[in-house]
Amino acid sequence: MMTVSPGSSTRVRREVRPTDQLPEGATSSKARPIISFTARRRGKAPSHLADLDLDGRKKVLSEVGFPAFRADQLSRHYFEHGVADPELMSDVPASMREVVSQTLLPHLITKVTSLRADDGETIKDLWELFDGARVESVLMRYPNRTTLCISSQAGCGMACPFCATGQMGLTRNLSTAEIVDQVRLARLACAEGALSEGPTHLSNVVFMGMGEPLANYRTVVQALHRLVDPAPEGFGMSARNITVSTVGLVPSIDRLAGEGIPVTLAVSLHAPDDDLRDELIPINSRWKVGELLDAARRYFVATGRRVSIEYALIRDMNDQPWRAQLLADELNRRGHGWVHVNPIPLNPTPGSIWTASTRRAQNEFVETLRASGIVTTIRDTRGSDIDGACGQLATAVQNRERNQSTGHAPVRPNTQEAR
Ligand code: SAH
Repeated sequence: MMTVSPGSSTRVRREVRPTDQLPEGATSSKARPIISFTARRRGKAPSHLADLDLDGRKKVLSEVGFPAFRADQLSRHYFEHGVADPELMSDVPASMREVVSQTLLPHLITKVTSLRADDGETIKDLWELFDGARVESVLMRYPNRTTLCISSQAGCGMACPFCATGQMGLTRNLSTAEIVDQVRLARLACAEGALSEGPTHLSNVVFMGMGEPLANYRTVVQALHRLVDPAPEGFGMSARNITVSTVGLVPSIDRLAGEGIPVTLAVSLHAPDDDLRDELIPINSRWKVGELLDAARRYFVATGRRVSIEYALIRDMNDQPWRAQLLADELNRRGHGWVHVNPIPLNPTPGSIWTASTRRAQNEFVETLRASGIVTTIRDTRGSDIDGACGQLATAVQNRERNQSTGHAPVRPNTQEAR
């Protein structure tokens, strides 16, 4: 059962057993993972230019005896041109390159596999980090934008039973630079024409890959700065084109609202009532639906950004018309025009007993929301034909230690984006 330690800063114990109850229809409780904010691995990625703001980079350079203007130069190589290897920087003296690669530009992430789907409009990359941990990112081209879905943690500690990454447990938090480097590499891939229909510009970033971004809060906020701050500080992307998705860590939502970076907030709600959400989203044992929706509304008021509600439609689980009506009522009770709903047909995951709702149930759910004035857009599932292979590869490696004790089958992470 849930236990709360009132004094701790997260207000949740390091490890919380979410519930002893099983979701309807589940067969065994033995393998139920527990929420964790503690990484299994302690290693820290090598310190990198993208971990620091420009002043920090200058400081590092001055410590090794180089002038401050070099920080500007290296930062422009990295953020403007996507170049991270000092050997490729002809305007950086050869004698300086080795020191720079050790202090500010160590190699961070290595591509393991790259899979294409949707006629080359989706590319899913599997990356290996310095310690062998693996994460995925997915690049998706749409008619009016190109979006990258990135990971903020290797694995995830939130233990949602329908989510592949949730079954893996938390391996470790990514560093700011490990997050930012996924974006740099995607910008390069876009510019080089890796997606079909030729070169394009990366316009959107969603924190919807592996991990709970708000559980790696400081690192993610720094990464947001690198994404939105203009060069030489960062890439200069538009905050409105960046989405941070969360299971609902309420205090961190409020904190994010006060950061002055008006990114879009997505809330993985999946149920409008605590009875069901307690089962689907273990952290609901700490922050209830009402508290979460209040925080989402405060986020809208503070930032002016319309909040997204994510809702994976699970057959006979959360897809009843009465739940759609309850969701609409809960949202409307807090105001109008502040939120939209993104139902997602559940991505079935091997080892999970749940399946996607029928088309009929999905339509009725959507119509019920729309009839109550809630803007609702069904998400398409990008890369569904490569999800399995690639997602299973990442999870298979990281799941090994877990599988030995739980017998859990590897399942695939979700990678989707609204059209
Ligand atoms: N931890 C954050 C970021 C991950 S975003 C969060 O939960 O919001 C990934 C999104 O995909 C979340 O909305 C998650 O609930 C959803 N998701 C996970 N597994 C899924 C599945 N099998 N089918 C559809 N959506 C899923």
